[in-house]
Amino acid sequence: MEKKDLDWASLGFGYVQTEQRYVSNFKDGKWDEGGLTTDANIVLNECAGVLQYAQTCFEGLKAYTTEDGRIVTFRPDLNADRMYTTAQRLEMPPFPKDKFVEAVKAVVKANAAYVPPYGSGATLYLRPYMFGTNPVIGVKPATEYQFRIFCTPVGPYFKGGAKPLTLCVSDFDRAAPHGTGNIKAGLNYAMSLHPIVEAHKAGYAENMYLDAATRTKVEETGGANFLFVTKDGKVVTPKSNSILPSITRRSLMIVAREYLGLEAEEREIFFDEVKDFAECGLCGTAAVISPVGKIVDHGKEICFPSGMDEMGPITKKLYDTLTGIQMGRLDPPEGWIVEI
Ligand SMILES: *Cc1c(COP(=O)(O)O)cnc(C)c1O
Repeated sequence: MEKKDLDWASLGFGYVQTEQRYVSNFKDGKWDEGGLTTDANIVLNECAGVLQYAQTCFEGLKAYTTEDGRIVTFRPDLNADRMYTTAQRLEMPPFPKDKFVEAVKAVVKANAAYVPPYGSGATLYLRPYMFGTNPVIGVKPATEYQFRIFCTPVGPYFKGGAKPLTLCVSDFDRAAPHGTGNIKAGLNYAMSLHPIVEAHKAGYAENMYLDAATRTKVEETGGANFLFVTKDGKVVTPKSNSILPSITRRSLMIVAREYLGLEAEEREIFFDEVKDFAECGLCGTAAVISPVGKIVDHGKEICFPSGMDEMGPITKKLYDTLTGIQMGRLDPPEGWIVEI
């Protein structure tokens, strides 16, 4: 298979249209057979449920080429699980988990020419999503839905090394205590756009959101979970019902324990404790871990000892180990790597 002639290393995180995508429709109470199509456009009725009441959710995962030339994806079964849970919360018909994984494989296989080569730092990003398609004007769930997966090649997340980020503590809330913070719904992102635009204007890379009820505990950023390292080398991550269960973060906790022999704990983390941590990182599919060097709380700076030049030493070990597993340089735990 001939690879596309793309300048992999200079790709950004943007949409590049590829040849094939997967589509399945839900109608009369069931999902159809589903299959690949070359049509990248969607024609919807003006009153479609997604357009009126934002009934839509999504997932994100990657395919890449390993050191020995295999094309693989990382834990797609967990994306299938999470989308299932998300759909239930939004009164959408969950897409069958086994079909989800099959669809991921079919899209990667059909677009193998767009899977960046090993060592380029680029990856193929997959975007599964689902939305209500039939006309809905009274407030109720749609009765017809479309599930799709498209893919787009994306460049290396860190061009010229992972520079630590500066975050600010947001005055906005991301998620209500019994709301939708724990599901991957488009609506969580719609409402986060204003806070992130404001944060960027003020010179910050991301917002740190606190729990909406007490504003004393760390939640997450708009699109990534926090991971901290204590001064005695323990990995800790916030436990909350209103944060999105990141697959990267859950995997890193296992990597910390089983590959690095570190203690790793999920617990409530008070903002007051943050100044005492040695390292901080943001976890998500896009970057695996982005190091955080500084957090600004209304003018008061918290500077992590790891500094503004490089990842902290434990963050780096976590990053190298998980990317080593993903790229086939280290033996993976059972079921983590799914070959196409
Ligand atoms: C997708 C997402 C993450 C990261 O999850 P991964 O499964 O690691 O990609 C974290 N927080 C939010 C709010 C997200 O939507």
